[in-house]
Amino acid sequence: MNPFETVKQNTSARQVAEFYGAKFNKNGMCQCPFHKDKTPRMKIDNRFYCFGCNETGDAIDYVSKLFGIGLRETAIKICEDLSLEYDKTTQKTRPVVLHTNMVFEILVPY
Ligand SMILES: [Zn+2]
Repeated sequence: MNPFETVKQNTSARQVAEFYGAKFNKNGMCQCPFHKDKTPRMKIDNRFYCFGCNETGDAIDYVSKLFGIGLRETAIKICEDLSLEYDKTTQKTRPVVLHTNMVFEILVPY
């Protein structure tokens, strides 16, 4: 799975927010990190929503806004910080040419 799918399937926004320091009261509300929140007005389940400044999104949006980093970088950061297994090989291709030449030379001796 790519890091986006891994985060979506293995975490909730609440779990991720708690990991990065959000404290929830008994009503399941926490202080919004995106505006000066005196009383906890952010609600987080699978997505977050702030009743103070209307910020909303999922776990990746939350961390992306919190650290000011891009979405792909955020997805990878969450995977690494929470020790989630994700596919690291999506952007790289293996250099197989050298290997193929070697096999060819072994199979066709002269
Ligand atoms: Zn807010």
